[in-house]
Amino acid sequence: MKGLDVRKDFPILKIKVHGKPLIYLDNAATSQKPKTVIDAISTYYKENNSNVHRGLHTLSEVATQQYEESRSIVAKFIHAQPEEIVFTHNTTESLNLVARGFLSSYVPGSEMVLTPMEHHSNLVPWITLAKKHHLVVRYVPMHPDGTLDLKTFQHMLSSKTKLVAVTHVSNVLGTINPVEEIARLAHRHDTLVVVDGAQSVPHLPVDVQKMGCDFLAFSSHKMLGPTGVGVLYGRKALLEKMEPFLYGGGMINEVTYENATWAELPNKFEAGTPNIADVIAFGTAVKYLQKIGMGRIQKHEQLLTQYVMQKLGQMEGVTIYGPSAEKRIGVVSFNLTGVHPHDVATLLDKQGIAIRAGHHCTMPLHKNYGMQSSCRVSFYLYNTMKEIDALCEALEKVKKVFEKKATIKNEGGQDLKG
Ligand code: PMP
Repeated sequence: MKGLDVRKDFPILKIKVHGKPLIYLDNAATSQKPKTVIDAISTYYKENNSNVHRGLHTLSEVATQQYEESRSIVAKFIHAQPEEIVFTHNTTESLNLVARGFLSSYVPGSEMVLTPMEHHSNLVPWITLAKKHHLVVRYVPMHPDGTLDLKTFQHMLSSKTKLVAVTHVSNVLGTINPVEEIARLAHRHDTLVVVDGAQSVPHLPVDVQKMGCDFLAFSSHKMLGPTGVGVLYGRKALLEKMEPFLYGGGMINEVTYENATWAELPNKFEAGTPNIADVIAFGTAVKYLQKIGMGRIQKHEQLLTQYVMQKLGQMEGVTIYGPSAEKRIGVVSFNLTGVHPHDVATLLDKQGIAIRAGHHCTMPLHKNYGMQSSCRVSFYLYNTMKEIDALCEALEKVKKVFEKKATIKNEGGQDLKG
């Protein structure tokens, strides 16, 4: 398979871990950064450092222009208007912003619908505020393969349903949810649709007009950009109605000792000095992704996913969770019989291979599958088939280590009995 020829752009991919070349398969947690993004941060501090939206001097004007340019780049990337893009710190903050903006306006007994595969970021804000405002939270059932039961979802909707919050892509199962269909069904009941795009916007083409969602949240750090920058896309009419949740400088229109009025969108939601350097570098990251092409990135990751699922599927003692490769993106969670996921991750790390082990911020989903934790590999545009071969070889070694341990234990037991 011909790769995307991008590895040279990522300085970290040249490092060694425990003397072995780094194989980075933890992209769902955070992605690596290309040199252009790293350079954009240092150029800003070396040549442009200044506060935005305030000064009338040259540096401030350049910083403001670059900061707003990033907003336009991000807006175009998902087919939105610049004033519909609010910069936050991460997906988590974006989702909390919507939860705080709307839930207090619903009458007690109103319903909201979530799915069982939500990341804690798209679960905890809703359940916590639902309790406070006496709202009812309902969950769409899931088929055994980790896809949503849309037929039942359709019957769960009524005039009581005020909001549906759903992840576009599961960070554990990799499932791509049919968010277009979900939005279409929900809107028949005037229900708001909030989409967690943390795992989709970095990996496949996303168009909010096509999707028809009301809000979409995602993070820069999972899509080649710096940490500390998130996005909340919201339909203009809704953002205009929504209450800000941080008050202070930069978000006001007029202030007296008694009252304040809010600035126009999107400034109303960006109180205080924003993360200027990282927002500018995020714009560079999005331009980089656009140059490669989101369609090509999705195709590349699809091939890697098919390959890893085929190889892991042939390995004895491996259980894979979630749907078949064509229904998911490049996220594959699994367990090795008799080996704790933390042991798997630690032993792989010794071979230079970085994977995730734990509950991946989805405790209830893991309980659904009758487990506490799992191993997760997740790909991005720079991963290769060779890395998957190395992963599978290393997993065979892990299995051998534990088979040996089990044999020694058994023999020890027999000795004692004898
Ligand atoms: N939702 C999903 C589906 C995620 O995978 C993550 C990150 N693991 C988040 C939300 C939260 O993202 P952040 O930590 O950037 O707020």
